[in-house]
Amino acid sequence: NSGKVGLTSLDMYARDHFPLCMKYVYGILKSTHHLKHDCRLQLGLFLKGIGLTYEDSMTFWKNEFTKKIDSGKFDKEYAYNIKHMYGLVGQRTSYSAYSCIRIISCNVGVGDHHGCPYKHWDSVVLRSKLNELGMTTEAVQDIVDAASKGHYQIACCKYFEYVHGQQNKVAINHPNQYFEESLECSK
Ligand code: SF4
Repeated sequence: NSGKVGLTSLDMYARDHFPLCMKYVYGILKSTHHLKHDCRLQLGLFLKGIGLTYEDSMTFWKNEFTKKIDSGKFDKEYAYNIKHMYGLVGQRTSYSAYSCIRIISCNVGVGDHHGCPYKHWDSVVLRSKLNELGMTTEAVQDIVDAASKGHYQIACCKYFEYVHGQQNKVAINHPNQYFEESLECSK
């Protein structure tokens, strides 16, 4: 946890350094100004893990949600959830971000956005999202092939390598690890 991530750099980080599972839900939040509970936890704990403070986190979620609902409704229905992630209410446990295994094994229903794209999206959807991100035909094929064989974390690692144009030395086991290594690549 670098502790240096501020609100103004989040869009840039999402564009350049988030793994696909987080980039995708971040985009959904920005475009729909809402995320369901499981999705909020997946993204919220990841953001906490990359160093977003509680105060910034509350501002971030509130800014997005109140583009659609009023601030009173946010305070009543969603603020607790953010406090909970930071261990400020309830059992006061400071929750940590989900690992890849946890995200890969979660239940994802119709209309849900959380989960691991390489596991939970069918290959047509995965292919089209990767194309939208401007990846080459070769890269898309390589990633989709790994995902369809059930090698989800390898697919993620390949995505990392194509994004950065260099080999990643270690396997991806955690979205926050992906983020840290991605930052290292850009140094
Ligand atoms: Fe996210 Fe892990 Fe899936 Fe990569 S392998 S997209 S980091 S859950």
